[in-house]
Amino acid sequence: MGCLFVSDLHLSSARPEPLDRFLAFLRRPPRQLRTLYVLGDLFDQWLGDDDDSAPHPRVVAGLSGLSRNGTACFALRGNHDFLLGAGFEAATGCRLLPDPSVVHVSGTPVLLSHGDALCTDDVEYQQWRSYSRDQSNQRAFLDLSLETRSAQAAQLRRHADLRVQLKPQDIMDVSPSAVSEALRAHGVHHLVHGHTHRPAIHRTTLDGTPATRIVLGDWYAKETALWWDQDGYQLGSLEELGWGK
Ligand code: MN
Repeated sequence: MGCLFVSDLHLSSARPEPLDRFLAFLRRPPRQLRTLYVLGDLFDQWLGDDDDSAPHPRVVAGLSGLSRNGTACFALRGNHDFLLGAGFEAATGCRLLPDPSVVHVSGTPVLLSHGDALCTDDVEYQQWRSYSRDQSNQRAFLDLSLETRSAQAAQLRRHADLRVQLKPQDIMDVSPSAVSEALRAHGVHHLVHGHTHRPAIHRTTLDGTPATRIVLGDWYAKETALWWDQDGYQLGSLEELGWGK
């Protein structure tokens, strides 16, 4: 039995392939799967728990089926779906975890984060992050009609896409000092995150002790995931992990 970690699926009707692959996975998960962790940006956009635009209902139904069949399911909010709330939890059976959170995986304490909070070199983004995660700002936004929220989000995304194009790549990666601080603050030597869409296993040291940062990938071209059981961990596509199509 083991745990599967995924992130950055960015499910939307505009990208049918990752959607179909994820729904197929939820319908027929591997027998050894005990816990699924979704580390943010499951959805490309989530404007509140009343946002029932396609493909949300199909994904919610799929996750609900998975948890009803006995797989524990946990999710972190990403920068695209940070408005996931109690309504999502009730509809899916997935528990939302704070970012960051420490969980125990086959006896190893592991720090989980979406990863955007660790991109501290991007000062402009961190300002937006503080604003958008503020509870009263969120309440004010959620009070608007879904139509108004949708229009505002579209406008914000046009600005954000333009800004991302103008930024050097490295400031949109995690900052090594933010990673060290987070590991130290939680007393752990393993971090799993997504967000940067740069899947890799980085082996470093923290205060003289080996430390590992595992970066999940997105689901645009292939379904990248991390499998972790009593024998260790492996990062790859679902196919590479032995769960062919
Ligand atoms: Mn992200």
